[in-house]
Amino acid sequence: MCGIIGYIGAQKATPILINGLLRLEYRGYDSAGISTMEKNGLSVMKDKGRVKNLYDLDGINDLEGTIGIAHTRWATHGKPSKENSHPHLDNSKTFAVVHNGIIENYNDLRAFLIENGYTFYSQTDTEVIPNLIHYYYSKDAEKDEFKLLRAVQKTCKDLKGSFALQVLSKDLPDNMLVVRKDSPLVIGKGNGENYISSDIPAILSFTKDFYFLNDYEFAILSRDKIDFYDIDLNKITKKIKSIDWNASAADKNGYEDYMLKEIFEQPNAIRETIGSHLPENERCTFENLNFSKAFLQSINKIYIVACGTAMHAGLTGKIAIEQLCNIPVSVDIASEFRYRNPIIDKNTLCIYISQSGETADTIAALKLSKSKGATTLAISNVIGSSITREADYCIYTHAGPEIAVASTKAYTSQVMLLNILAIYFAEILESTPYSEIVKIKNEILSLPAKAETTLKCCNEIKNFAKNMYQEKDVFFLGRGVDYNTSLEASLKLKEISYIHSEAYAAGELKHGPIALIENGITVVSILTDELLVEKTISNIQEVITRGANTLVITNKTLPSNNIDKIVPIPDTHTSLSSILSIIPLQLLAYYISKEKGLDVDKPRNLAKSVTVE
Ligand code: GLU
Repeated sequence: MCGIIGYIGAQKATPILINGLLRLEYRGYDSAGISTMEKNGLSVMKDKGRVKNLYDLDGINDLEGTIGIAHTRWATHGKPSKENSHPHLDNSKTFAVVHNGIIENYNDLRAFLIENGYTFYSQTDTEVIPNLIHYYYSKDAEKDEFKLLRAVQKTCKDLKGSFALQVLSKDLPDNMLVVRKDSPLVIGKGNGENYISSDIPAILSFTKDFYFLNDYEFAILSRDKIDFYDIDLNKITKKIKSIDWNASAADKNGYEDYMLKEIFEQPNAIRETIGSHLPENERCTFENLNFSKAFLQSINKIYIVACGTAMHAGLTGKIAIEQLCNIPVSVDIASEFRYRNPIIDKNTLCIYISQSGETADTIAALKLSKSKGATTLAISNVIGSSITREADYCIYTHAGPEIAVASTKAYTSQVMLLNILAIYFAEILESTPYSEIVKIKNEILSLPAKAETTLKCCNEIKNFAKNMYQEKDVFFLGRGVDYNTSLEASLKLKEISYIHSEAYAAGELKHGPIALIENGITVVSILTDELLVEKTISNIQEVITRGANTLVITNKTLPSNNIDKIVPIPDTHTSLSSILSIIPLQLLAYYISKEKGLDVDKPRNLAKSVTVE
């Protein structure tokens, strides 16, 4: 879950590494450190706290090395402290290592190394790695250039868990070695210089050409060359992938925070995600999908599996697919699904959603369903990410890099793509009347403009946030698709404002939760489903009667009936409405967090892209 950065080239490495770390800080931010190859050996500078603290470290400006590795930590083993920060050295100070992930068998490895005379200076799982490398390195009598590669290979074979590793050795002062298993790592190819990063945006301003490593693939980097090896140390070739994201997409562009920028980028993210999937007067197409009618008819069950916000997008995907295709869809939380022995066979289609494409539980669930014979389809925002390489098929949202920890534009793009996928299936299956499909397609095409209109509620929401930022509990209500939106709105509020909130299917209110409603509590309701409006209005009246303050997001004309604030949004097809109704609620969470003076982009205890279980 941390961020790692590496540089090998002709420029001083330190400023490039710190710059990269600042861009990756959203992935983890309890400590940071760098190691550079200096004339007199490896230098390591690190401390707990934010990346900017690195600037204050004594001697950091004197570093001259042009090769270096760096890390921003999200602690899993050992509290945030200087000793626990990465990079870690082996006892002989020959190897410096940064690690993203978790070594599950570190206790056994540590005991083994202690028995063999090694001492440990941190509580991390990571520190076994440089020492194990040293153990194998010192046992190898050969003196050729592949000695480090062999030692790292043997080390990786001993490690259980997940890792993306960068290794420097003072014996190889012109090289860097990297390897990964289940944790993200990309290699950016420059001109006479190369870069390593946990994700693409952090190094997008340096290069657009990337290599992606599969599990247990090694790369030895020099300034002008990268050699790749498989787990048996056979040399392999890898193709470069060019990424068409714009470097400025990873900057704040004048916005106060990434989250606000990303909320406002939604019309474009939706537009880009629609892309060319809906050609005029033709069937919906996906470049990477070629499903036949016979294949789709053979599918008797679809699982949509994801975590957090992506799972909420999946809930709306279920509504769209079930309505248009008449195939039963179950939505599952990846960390539950993977341990539940789900009923899957060759007639099951499993759809996995992950913005980063690196979500550990989602990838594990995907592997499980593949082993049981299902067809797997990944939805990701990151080209070449792990999930897209594991799945049989993959399709992409085109939201551009999402930096803020709280997902916004990735969510709306996922809901968009799932709706388009439902149409794609329905057209092949001929399961929905053509006239209905045309209506929905037209609605989809009008959504970017409607999202622009929705964003105009910004100031109204900002003012409402001023009245409610001191609340302790907030409730979100909705039915059908609006219930799904409530879940996502409640998650947003929790994530960045630290206010306790709950989302309820409005019809459930009377089955318990209404006992919590008391004078002055805020209840936010979402009302977009024509068929359910009256039902939800009755629920709103019930909470008003019990003294609640009410905010309603709706695309219907409502009697104002004592509702404190109604925020109107444009009308659209029911399964698409979430894309618009979530926008005011993203803004609500954002402005409440600002009112409270919190760090919106880097909320406490959270990190972007959960690459650990
Ligand atoms: N497990 C390692 C640690 O706690 C790495 C965590 C990370 O990915 O930042 O230091």
